[in-house]
Amino acid sequence: MDSDAIVIGHFGLDIEVVLADGERRRIRARSSSEPLVVGDRVKLSERGVELQPRETVLARRDARDRTRAIAANLDVLGVTLAAQPPVPRGYVERMVVAARSAEIEPFLVVNKCDLQESRALSEQLGARFAASAGRVPVFEVSALTGVGLDGIRSHLSGVRGAFVGTSGVGKSSLLNALVPGLDLEVGEINRFTRLGRHVTTRSSLHSLPGGGELIDTPGFRDFVPVDLSPAELASYFPGFEAALEKGCRFRDCRHREEPACGVLESVEEGEVEPADHATYLEVLADLERVEAREARGARS
Ligand code: GDP
Ligand code: ZN
Repeated sequence: MDSDAIVIGHFGLDIEVVLADGERRRIRARSSSEPLVVGDRVKLSERGVELQPRETVLARRDARDRTRAIAANLDVLGVTLAAQPPVPRGYVERMVVAARSAEIEPFLVVNKCDLQESRALSEQLGARFAASAGRVPVFEVSALTGVGLDGIRSHLSGVRGAFVGTSGVGKSSLLNALVPGLDLEVGEINRFTRLGRHVTTRSSLHSLPGGGELIDTPGFRDFVPVDLSPAELASYFPGFEAALEKGCRFRDCRHREEPACGVLESVEEGEVEPADHATYLEVLADLERVEAREARGARS
């Protein structure tokens, strides 16, 4: 008989699935179609493991520039930030764009709010994201003291989420604080061998006591927007929502130097920060490079 299951763990060649009745099984990761990832829904039968259609998928590019799924069927993505290590320029914007283009709702987590320096960061992000037309919620938390974690718990209730963020912002600490019994190693050095490679490729899905689920995978390190064309970028770009309502003369306007462009007008009128527009142009140029490379690849 066929049974439905969800992939909750990935261990190299094996995956762990949980069946509808709660039974867990460890099986070979082969499926009828593509490699399975945590969050995938599958059907188990005599014929093997059959992947069910994915509602959303987070992906990254591998060393050979191919797209690889990292997790499936996520509803929300927590972009994790801290005053230390500092947020790379354009990082939040890129993550928000990547999530939105994958139809996953982004939210921001400012961790380490026990540190004095984090005040300025939360205020700045709150003003830019929580108050903008395309509201992205901002949570101020401390994985260390537990402050603010209830806000995240209720945001995750009934949905499936994951955290992304650069090394050292406290993703493992947050997961440990939110998932009872979880004991991920904290601190960058522990998770790498002396050769500087990942010790494991473990990824897993955890149920939360208040409902909801969290996915943890080391792959989130190099998560990038995929399947996003340069022309679509502006519609996902945080802070451009009101500017785009003004409209542009050209339907395929890239808001770079075109005449009668609603976004450029908004920059001139001070409604969009020049720095944000500059970030947009950088991401646009990156996407144009990817598009050109793909076009060359398709021709050869
Ligand atoms: P990850 O690389 O994003 O998974 O970050 P880790 O969870 O490994 O944390 C990196 C470092 O930040 C560790 O030294 C943690 O102890 C520290 N850290 C994590 N959360 C907090 C926090 O809320 N406050 C403070 N002060 N330090 C934290
Ligand atoms: Zn325009």
